[in-house]
Amino acid sequence: MNERDSEWMLGHLLSCGWETADNPQNASLAIINTCSVRYHAEHKAFSLLGFLRKIKNENGLKIVLTGCTADAYKEKLLKDFPYLDGVFGPAEEKELIERIDELFSSNKSMLSVGKQTGIKCFNSGSDYRKEKITAFVSIMEGCDNFCSYCIVPYVRGRERSRETNDILDEIHALKEKGYKEVMLLGQNVNSYGVGNKNGFIKLLEEVNAIGIERIRFMTSHPKDINLDLLKAMKDLEHVCEHLHLPLQSGSDKILRLMNRKYILSDYLKLVNNYRKIIPSGSITTDIIVGFPGESTKDFKRTLFALNQIKFDSAFIFKYSPRPNTAANGFVDDVGRKEKEARNLIALSIQKEISFRKKMKWIDKNLEVLLERKDSEGFYKGRSSQNFTVHAKGSALEGVVKNVRINEARINSLRGEIIE
Ligand code: SAH
Ligand code: SF4
Repeated sequence: MNERDSEWMLGHLLSCGWETADNPQNASLAIINTCSVRYHAEHKAFSLLGFLRKIKNENGLKIVLTGCTADAYKEKLLKDFPYLDGVFGPAEEKELIERIDELFSSNKSMLSVGKQTGIKCFNSGSDYRKEKITAFVSIMEGCDNFCSYCIVPYVRGRERSRETNDILDEIHALKEKGYKEVMLLGQNVNSYGVGNKNGFIKLLEEVNAIGIERIRFMTSHPKDINLDLLKAMKDLEHVCEHLHLPLQSGSDKILRLMNRKYILSDYLKLVNNYRKIIPSGSITTDIIVGFPGESTKDFKRTLFALNQIKFDSAFIFKYSPRPNTAANGFVDDVGRKEKEARNLIALSIQKEISFRKKMKWIDKNLEVLLERKDSEGFYKGRSSQNFTVHAKGSALEGVVKNVRINEARINSLRGEIIE
């Protein structure tokens, strides 16, 4: 989502006559678009600020911080980093050009945060995109779920959906430009809907009718996904066979503390249904280890879930306390070293599972959308299941080819293009 916001901001600046500089020394403006979902992401942004400060001292560079960290810390940022020229929350990005013009004319630092309403007009500005084959398409902003560890509802505000016609116009235009794949983005896509919160399947049907080669979406919440969506995934020819379904923990006690509103057995039923309906589909997840109150027994339930479900891959995060969240008031009682140890154990179990699951694809064919040639002369692409595939043979970039898989690695597959 942040990447899409960054693209969109850059597009706006380019359409208003700004140009990208080849390095910060030659720039008059630097915008750091931040993520605050974990401390680590925030820390990276703060380090970058320190680096840009030196350049500012040399060439007068104006430094602006946008995104979720702006809303998380507000005026404190101007106090802690007095050399910052502007701090704008995610909702303010729609007024970015006016804000930047003001910055340059007034020469005063500006703070504009806390207005987490409205929706960006993604169809305006020059439609700059980083990639040529896959395009991110934001379908909604904000979140109403208030998972107890998560800062998103506080920094991005209440959930609001973009008008369907706006989304469809954007995807039509992408198709005309030659894009082959769209990734529909939202914190909880299953509750998409303007007025009616059950609009996601309808949206998928309408996007499918446009005829763009591939449709992906992220993220689904286990409490909101249902059989109808799984059936739609199967029936709609352009929708990819990949489901990202964050589990977070295998312990019902921890899931309750996290305010996730499902228990492990609900999740297991969902996975069973998914695999019954889409047998060749892949499933990936997010896991948090070391959440407050996570005992060894609770952690073992997460390991049990990983072993039981056998995800194709999983992002495994160490719990990171976030300001304003409910869990920030819980005692962060799993020590740093223990979190680290649990993270490593879960990662190594998942690594083995990912590898074994990839091995099952050897001697099978996968439809791969070829993205670009790598340094070894292989085409790098992705299968419908979102597996990275390196394919040998001749083809064009941006086409879907059948690839016979002959080698498996933890995070990718290799094979030959078959005509
Ligand atoms: N809306 C999506 C994504 C939210 S952020 C969803 O509901 O899944 C992506 C992932 O970051 C989450 O799934 C969670 O696993 C992780 N995450 C969020 N807050 C976190 C925190 N405070 N500490 C560690 N991981 C966190
Ligand atoms: Fe955060 Fe939960 Fe909303 Fe995802 S669903 S953004 S984890 S509050």
